[in-house]
Amino acid sequence: MAICFQEMNFDETMWLTRAMLESGKVVEWERNGSFYADKHSTGGIGDKVSLILAPLVACCGVRVPMISGRGLGPTGGTLDKLESIPGFRTDLSLEELVQVTDSVGCAITGPTAEIAPADKKLYALRDVTATVSCLPLIVASIMSKKLAENVDGLMLDVKWGSGAFMRTREASLKLARAMVEVGKRYCKKVCALQTDMNQPLGQCIGNALEVRECIEIMSGKTKADGLMEVTLALAAEMLLMAGATKSVAEAKEILQKKLASGEALEKFAEMITAQRGDARVCENVNRLPAARQTKPIAAKTSGYVHAIECDQIGYAVIALGGGRKLASDRIDFAAGFEQPKRIGDRVAAGEPLMIMHYSDAARAAEAEQMVQQAYGISAERVLARPRLVTQKIE
Ligand code: URA
Repeated sequence: MAICFQEMNFDETMWLTRAMLESGKVVEWERNGSFYADKHSTGGIGDKVSLILAPLVACCGVRVPMISGRGLGPTGGTLDKLESIPGFRTDLSLEELVQVTDSVGCAITGPTAEIAPADKKLYALRDVTATVSCLPLIVASIMSKKLAENVDGLMLDVKWGSGAFMRTREASLKLARAMVEVGKRYCKKVCALQTDMNQPLGQCIGNALEVRECIEIMSGKTKADGLMEVTLALAAEMLLMAGATKSVAEAKEILQKKLASGEALEKFAEMITAQRGDARVCENVNRLPAARQTKPIAAKTSGYVHAIECDQIGYAVIALGGGRKLASDRIDFAAGFEQPKRIGDRVAAGEPLMIMHYSDAARAAEAEQMVQQAYGISAERVLARPRLVTQKIE
């Protein structure tokens, strides 16, 4: 609490990060000339970037060991998304993480008890003392876990907006700068992209729906949108860090080819198999959990979407059962939303704002109201939001 009131200077933040990192083990890699890199996002709504980025970057020869998290507040978690794939294990030991990363090229798993155990204790304490949103504590929490991975390169996606922890560009810039600086002091190649989280990323929000969306993108069935703008920008920076290309433009070209050839999807299937999941979901998305019902959520008024309280969309997924209110809650992997109307879109009263996927009618009624209230619709014309990648910090 004192840190929340007094802040910490940069050296103090570094010392806390180091103490938390050294409370546990650091992963040891044989390396053999390979470059290891990870990407960390500060979390958002519909943020499924890791599911495409890890296999895509691995296809380009960079090793990607990802230690990811579960949903936090309204934001979704990569581990929860992956667990919607039948059998998928997110509890690899450090030895298994090393083995899968080195044999497949990428792995996505949860933090083990050996990774920065002090963070687990401090985080639980912060959670019940309203000290989660304190910047130096966030920096130490994230960076201690990422440094324990012992990667050569770290790519940070620092989000801002109504669906992010950092509501303003200024706050997210401060966070990005602090994390980049900590990474540099540890001699890592590190850079951050600041990205816009004022509306859901991509076409789906909800665990199995987001996995389906990623498979459809990697199999070429779905047209690229903002999700791929962010994914390609982050992946390109990782190739640059690894020295695999000379420019972002060249990196994006390589990545697009790996996507179009189906190699990224093949790598994703390989990773699923190595983590004991059913990789047949990659050929047939109907093997993923599906909700019993779908329902369009109608706009109450006509006009232009001028704002979305994006965190409320995340809470609506939780209300549907697609996230946890308590750590012990079981998730309904099939619950969620698709085809959200975006800022700048024109809607007529009665037209769908999104399509809801649900199995429990009582929960659906609450979630429907939350979505309707989250949308701000005005009579005046509103411009679509420009590029989602707003700044690079290095
Ligand atoms: N994610 C973390 O791992 N820690 C924080 O403090 C915030 C987000």
